[in-house]
Order: sequence, then structure tokens, then C-alpha cells
Amino acid sequence: MKTKIFNINEIVRENVKGLSPYSSARDEYISDGSKMVFLDANENPYETGVNRYPDPLQRRLKEALAEKKGVPAQQILLGNGSDEVLDLIFRAFCEPKEDNVISLPPTYGMYKVLAGINNVENREVLLTKEFEPNVHGILEAVDDRSKLLFLCSPNNPTGNSFSRGFIKKLLEDFNGLVVIDEAYIDFSNEPSWINELKNYPNLIITQTLSKAYGMAGIRLGLCFASEEVIGILNKIKPPYNVNELTQQRALERVLDQEAVDMEVKNILEQREMLYKALHQMDFVEKIYPSDANFILAKVDDATKRYNQLLSEGIVIRNRTTQPLCENSLRFTVGTQEENEKLIKALQKIINA
Ligand SMILES: *Cc1c(COP(=O)(O)O)cnc(C)c1O
Repeated sequence: MKTKIFNINEIVRENVKGLSPYSSARDEYISDGSKMVFLDANENPYETGVNRYPDPLQRRLKEALAEKKGVPAQQILLGNGSDEVLDLIFRAFCEPKEDNVISLPPTYGMYKVLAGINNVENREVLLTKEFEPNVHGILEAVDDRSKLLFLCSPNNPTGNSFSRGFIKKLLEDFNGLVVIDEAYIDFSNEPSWINELKNYPNLIITQTLSKAYGMAGIRLGLCFASEEVIGILNKIKPPYNVNELTQQRALERVLDQEAVDMEVKNILEQREMLYKALHQMDFVEKIYPSDANFILAKVDDATKRYNQLLSEGIVIRNRTTQPLCENSLRFTVGTQEENEKLIKALQKIINA
């Protein structure tokens, strides 16, 4: 456990400390379903289903998520995809040109992109050969302007979950906020770090409806943290960042957990099947174990195999230019029919 007291006021940007959020008309009075006449927001009164502004704090959706995840609603922030959530975290805590963040390639590309957009230095510390965080290297790279550390677990594109001991050590020894990106957590047997929120005031967890929940098109990102951190993010988020259609579709889906579970189960069975099939291909040199809905495999010549699959009408991801991913391809697990097409194509190109 941390011996030092973590003080969020030392982390948050000066200008953000002083902000009070934009107060929208719908913030001031939320309909409780009673017959009120709403003449406050200059909306068109004729019903289209979406003629009213959405709830800026997404209360109904957050209640459902709070129940499902076992976290109070005040510890949840929702955004227009995790990408917006991650951007809000940069904007709240990182002073452009002064602060820095730490990310661990090979990993999700958005951390670097967002650092660039926000003019914040991105210090990269490669994962080890086992695709684990290099704890010593990370703590060496850190200085007193290091505000954020991004841990993607299960990691994209490698597919593994980081060892809990390493994550624990980083939560204890890193002086900024540790952001654990759990976009793929629903495909993993590892427990979510959400259960540890009360032990670590510097922990932020992000999740998404884009992967296991099958809703990439509606753009809904989830963020779980202490009430203080969520309060700060709420101050800077655009008032209507999650639109009404997204709130409705997300709520329906979150309440239909059985359907989600069934799809995840099928995807996991298919991942196993694909894993075995890839083993049979003699140009596949190594298949990495996966806690996610994709498989990373090292092949003889990634660019050649990628192009051959393209000409068979199959699009995968060539990760060969990523560090530690030389000649590696990332295969998303599809439906049984799609995966069978992939395997047929792989068999066809074996001798090509
Ligand atoms: C796909 C993915 C996301 C999802 O981002 P959204 O903006 O919510 O769609 C987040 N993190 C990682 C590591 C991902 O691979």
C-alpha cells in the first residue's frame, strides 16, 4: 500500500482547478417524468423522439452501469468512446509542453496520438520480451512532471494481461495517475481492477462498449475512478458529450447481459478454434496467448501474408512495424463462418 498520501490537487492542471462547468438548461432541471412544460432550452417542441437535449450526466445509464459494475454512479464518467475519455484525462491533468506521460509500446496507438494532440511529451518504455511492463525502466523514466501512466491490460496488440504484481507495484510507486485500459476485460478471466478502486486513489480504469458489447458504432466509453477524479473530468467535459440515441441503445444493451455473455462465449470458443487452426499453418512461427478477442501471431513474412489474405478478400492487421512485433499479424476473431473463410484462405496461401 502507498505510504505517501496521494493528493489529487498536486496532479490537476492549475486552470482546471478554478473552472466551474458550463451549466446547461437541462442541468438545472431534470425531468422527473411529471408534466412540466419545458421552455428553457430553445428546443423545437414538436416530438421527434430526440427533440430534447440529452441528460448531460446520463443518470439512467450510469445507474444501470453502477449496479452491474458494483461502483457508485458518482465514480463513473461516460464519454463519446474511450477516445474522448482518454482525451479528457489528458486535458485535466497534463500541462502542455511541461508535463509528460508514460506509455508502453507495443500498445494501443491512441495514447501517443492524444499526447501529440495535447502537446504533451510521451515517454515510451518498451514492454519486456514477455510483453510485461518493465517496472524498473518505467520508474527510471519518470520525473516529477510525469502525470499519467497508461497500462493496457489485456494489451492491444499482444493480447496478454499484465501480471497483477507488476501493476500493483506501479500503482504504489508511480506518483501520478495510473490509467488501466480494460477495453478487452470481458474476454479475460482476470478480474477487473475496478475492484481495487477503493485501495488506490491514483487509479483510473477505462472500458468501452465497442468490443465485447458489440456497440462500436454508438461510441460509448466508460471511466471509473475516485469521486474527486470523476468530479474534475465532469468539469471539463462537453455538456452533451453522450447523445440521446447512444444513451438509449447502451442502456438496452447493458440490461441485456445474457445476449452479451452468449456472444462473448461464442467468440471465446472461436478464439480457441482459430488458435488451433493457426498452429497447423507452417508459416506461422509463434502464436501468443490471448485474453482478448484477437490473436497475435508471428509468421515468416508478415507483409507478404497480409497481402495474400487481402487478395483473398480478408482484412487483418499487419503489426510488423511495431516494436517487438516484427512479422506479426493480428487476427480479430469473427463469426464461425468468417473464421472458416480465414482458415480456408490461410490454407490456400500456404504454398503460394
Ligand atoms: C478498441 C480499443 C478501445 C476502444 O476505444 P473506443 O473509443 O471506446 O471505441 C480502447 N482501448 C483499446 C486498447 C482498444 O483496443
